[in-house]
Amino acid sequence: MANIVVTGAASGIGAATVELLRRTGNNVVGVDLAGAEIVADLSTSTGRTQAAAAAVEAVDGMLHAAVCCAGLGPLSSHSGGKLVSVNYFGTVDFLEELRPWLARAEQSFAVAISSSSTSTQPAIPENLVAACLDDRESEAVTLGDKVGAIPAYPASKLALARWVRRQAVTPDWIGAGIRLNAVAPGVIDTPMTSGSDLDPNLAKAIDFYPVPMGRRGRPEEIAALLQFLTSDAASLLSGSVVFADGGTDALLRQDDW
Ligand code: NAD
Repeated sequence: MANIVVTGAASGIGAATVELLRRTGNNVVGVDLAGAEIVADLSTSTGRTQAAAAAVEAVDGMLHAAVCCAGLGPLSSHSGGKLVSVNYFGTVDFLEELRPWLARAEQSFAVAISSSSTSTQPAIPENLVAACLDDRESEAVTLGDKVGAIPAYPASKLALARWVRRQAVTPDWIGAGIRLNAVAPGVIDTPMTSGSDLDPNLAKAIDFYPVPMGRRGRPEEIAALLQFLTSDAASLLSGSVVFADGGTDALLRQDDW
């Protein structure tokens, strides 16, 4: 039995992941704004620190994996800055707080959720990506507010994918036995893409996303990948960004290697 912390545990991909990990015998501690064992706001630095401390306490300091699903979507009513603070800094800072605890296990796992929008959406603001990667949170939030949620979303997720690839291979992560990877889902049918609070025109636009498989993904399909990435079966993976998008990335970037 592994002790695993999952953020964004109350809804969508996070909830499906909690359900699968528990059903397969793991001890899971959920973090979310409400409806989870640990209630915390990961958009704030205090919330991230408190959530990490509570998660470590809940597993008596023996942590085997962390999965960061908490996030805000581009179609929500939240500002671009808020998206950046949850999606990028709410993941990176939380994982950094947990890193010394993950390092105690002989082999441990951390997974961030990026997005296939990183390779499919045009005109991603690189200055926002750079501000995230340079850890300039207040500047990144200001830039996110300026560009708005639709460009801020892929920027926050591109920064996250790059952070994973940069950090995963360092002594702090793989040198300490921690496999750090990311998943890049395509359009998944969750409240983020089909909630009643979404702008109906923007929500409709999602269906024009080219998906060779011809359908949206299901949260359980991403949960299955996250289960793999937090298991010993993923022992050779470090810094991988795994697209699970029904073929969209392969379709649009065929020779981009
Ligand atoms: P969802 O809206 O169903 O779940 C997101 C969860 O994050 C919610 O429970 C929410 O309360 C929580 N959350 C939001 N802000 C928070 C905060 N400040 N502090 C703590 N928790 C917070 O969405 P989902 O589709 O399950 O998304 C999960 C992850 O997958 C997100 O990071 C999202 O960006 C990513 N993703 C989703 C899709 C998709 O099509 N659904 C595609 C690519 C990536």
